[in-house]
Amino acid sequence: MKRIKTDFLIVGSGLYGCVLAERISSILKKKVIILEKRNHIGGNCYSEIDKKTGIEYHKYGTHIFHTSIKPVWDYLKNFTQFNSYRHQVLTKYKSRTYQMPINLETINSFFNKDFRPEEAKNFIKKQTRNHDKKNLNNFEEKARSQIGDKLYEAFIKNYTYKQWGRNPKSLPSSIFNRLPIRFDYNEDYYKNPFIQGIPLEGYTKIFKRLTEKSNIEIIYNSNYNFENSHDVKYLTIYTGPLDKLLKNKFGKLEWRSLEFKKEIINNEDYQGTSVMNYPELKFKFTRIHEPKHLHPERKYGKKTLIIKEYPRLDSNEPYYPINDIKNRSRHKKYKNYLNKNRKIIFGGRLADYAYYDMDMTVSAALKKFNFIKNLFN
Ligand code: FAD
Repeated sequence: MKRIKTDFLIVGSGLYGCVLAERISSILKKKVIILEKRNHIGGNCYSEIDKKTGIEYHKYGTHIFHTSIKPVWDYLKNFTQFNSYRHQVLTKYKSRTYQMPINLETINSFFNKDFRPEEAKNFIKKQTRNHDKKNLNNFEEKARSQIGDKLYEAFIKNYTYKQWGRNPKSLPSSIFNRLPIRFDYNEDYYKNPFIQGIPLEGYTKIFKRLTEKSNIEIIYNSNYNFENSHDVKYLTIYTGPLDKLLKNKFGKLEWRSLEFKKEIINNEDYQGTSVMNYPELKFKFTRIHEPKHLHPERKYGKKTLIIKEYPRLDSNEPYYPINDIKNRSRHKKYKNYLNKNRKIIFGGRLADYAYYDMDMTVSAALKKFNFIKNLFN
């Protein structure tokens, strides 16, 4: 790779990298070069149009924007508008379809009842009676203690096993905190976000707008490595995985990965919703995405695109961190080692070895920008 001369070098054109590039170029008026190893902008939020159907889809999995963080919304509304899409998730079990997260409708249809909220609460309480509520040492114990055996075994147990490739007994109980149970008919996936939707012109357009400045240059197909010595006046901001940067010096950080397989269906509508879960083991995939439903405001043709999502364990494409003690302690070693280097800083979901929703990523990047700005005062 030829030697680069710039004020700031940003590694990665995902949300974290592009927000920082925009802030540094607009506010500090400095030159930014972004190195991106893929051939496109946007990191995992990237969206593109399927050539055969004209349907816009999210290449790395369905992304729904939602936030209750006001500074994030104040910032992003300069670059996009959102449509009126509201996310709901359904799940197929034994050839019937149920609402997720588990709510009053799920409970009533699954148990063939017509409970009111209080009755459902009492019913679930009985289902969980035999489970110890104090020593919840793993995912399974926590789940059984909150929703009982029947709902757990139908909707959660095998889905989790497929998703993580591990027995739920070996997963931390904290993962179950993300799967709420509701005793009302609210079937919105995100409960009361301040704003929710899909960018009207797609995600990729946001990234183009963030970076369309004369002092930002993006170099694609360009894999940064620590040994490349570039002429960077102020800082390098690295948004990739830390183990890769340091050639696995302290061991490999493990991630759960996904593979997506596209199919075109000669039908206007395949499943009537954007995401359907498949918890049963007989299906190798965990979800089917149908992206045309993400844009109810658009007119699409007579065919539809579906995308099956297959969990993969061992892959070079990192999606979800395996946040156990071994990996967390390795990550800490990488962080401590890099924190001693004053010319490189890092952030974003890969470098932080964390799951961040998009709004958390934007919020973290805006905070990091304040830190950088203070260096100039
Ligand atoms: P990334 O998007 O991963 O960008 C990092 C970039 O750095 C990549 O383009 C990568 O190619 C590049 N890079 C890495 N190493 C190098 C290197 N050495 N040299 C050059 N380039 C490099 N959030 C929501 O709010 N709603 C959702 O519905 C949602 N759905 C999700 C679904 C899935 C399956 C996943 C995995 C995440 C989802 N997210 C969702 C989270 C969202 O994807 C992240 O918040 C966001 O992508 C984080 O941006 P980032 O810049 O930190 O990382």
